[in-house]
Amino acid sequence: MRFFNTMGRSLQEFTPIKPDNVRMYTCGPTVYNYAHIGNFRAYLFEDVLKRTLEYFGYKVTQVMNLTDVDDKTIRDSKAAGLKLQDFTRKYKDAFFEDLKTLRIEPASHYPEATAHIPEMQRMIDILFKKGIAYKSEDGSVYFSIDKFPDYGKLARIDREQQRAGVRINSDEYEKDSVADFALWKAWSESDGDVKWDSPWGEGRPGWHLECSAMSMKYLGKTFDIHTGGVDNMFPHHEDEIAQSEAANGCKFVNYWLHCEHLTVDNKKMSKSLGNFYTLRDLQNKGYTGAEVRWALIGTHYRSKLNFSFALLDQARATLRKFADFFQRLRDLEKGSLGKEAAAELAAKADKDFADGIGNDLGIAEALAAVFTLERAVNSALAKHEFQSEAGEIILEQFRKFNKVLGSLDVDAAAEPEEVPAEIMALAEARSAARKARDFAKADEIRNQLKEAGWIVEDTPGGLKVKKA
Ligand SMILES: [Zn+2]
Repeated sequence: MRFFNTMGRSLQEFTPIKPDNVRMYTCGPTVYNYAHIGNFRAYLFEDVLKRTLEYFGYKVTQVMNLTDVDDKTIRDSKAAGLKLQDFTRKYKDAFFEDLKTLRIEPASHYPEATAHIPEMQRMIDILFKKGIAYKSEDGSVYFSIDKFPDYGKLARIDREQQRAGVRINSDEYEKDSVADFALWKAWSESDGDVKWDSPWGEGRPGWHLECSAMSMKYLGKTFDIHTGGVDNMFPHHEDEIAQSEAANGCKFVNYWLHCEHLTVDNKKMSKSLGNFYTLRDLQNKGYTGAEVRWALIGTHYRSKLNFSFALLDQARATLRKFADFFQRLRDLEKGSLGKEAAAELAAKADKDFADGIGNDLGIAEALAAVFTLERAVNSALAKHEFQSEAGEIILEQFRKFNKVLGSLDVDAAAEPEEVPAEIMALAEARSAARKARDFAKADEIRNQLKEAGWIVEDTPGGLKVKKA
């Protein structure tokens, strides 16, 4: 497998530290609101990454943190008049529901920041003893970027831009305000009752420190893969590297993978433009998790994804087509006709899929293998070249693809379409005409149905009526 490593900006062969167990850390949500589809694009990329590693036989230990204390959670819990933990609980629960809807496989651990304050304090202590952390006159503890010569290596920040001694207290800031960042924030009035004791006075941890402390606890000082959205790269990931490498004296992460932004109708998604969607907004419009998932994973993770409702409709049509395809394979009459041909087609598709997805998650190539197989099988079905055993080989291959893709319902019965009573009556009249060998009348009714937009089929399982 190969991945594009943000550190070094190049495609690199993937070699895990432990040959059979990949350790991977994923920056999780700040639980102050429902996650939006831009967030979910990143979580889905990480899910596809994890599933791909599993597809290639690796065991994956994945950690995703939950940021349940930071500037935003405190600000919004106060506005809602709730205690911090009551406020964040609601959005933690919603987040897990959404993951399930999108068929995202659970991570191995979901550590919460508020449950790991001692681990964070230990890390600050180490940085203090090494002379890298210092307490400023505002009572907060900062990381001195001047003491870490590698600062900026991930986001490629010019050493010139680094302004020693200039401090920034907020969790989020832009590249042009590169400065010493807060490890421990002294309590201030606006924090209300959110505070912990520490050797440096009452306060709370800085956001970046969470991920350094929690990744170390669950994955060790050095691990394989760290992921996030491109907007996490600076300052968040840059600061994580600085904290972890300065404290531990060893390399933090071997491979950094970042997922690009999502736009909506080619515009930045924002509440003011009215193009801001949570998963729940799309569900309320009738789309399923499988459809949203298919739409969001179909673009390579390093390309911008332009979301639109046309894209969702396309996903819906594709998944329905597949559901129909699987049904036809399940309905094949018993027998071994076409078994070898099916095995050959499946083996070729399997190889092409693996070549594609293993090459920096080349989803376009992987999907091309899937569609090529579907077309070849459809053509064999049209010529009645396959019986049930061949069909099962193909279904098994699709189950395998689905271990990565996740949106295909290979074994579920296709959702029955609501067929109006008068259409059903016509279809039955046609069957009766056929039985009576009145083929002229049967054809006439078939055309009538076609004009109304319906197709009727006589299958071994009985009469089937579906939309044209
Ligand atoms: Zn993080």
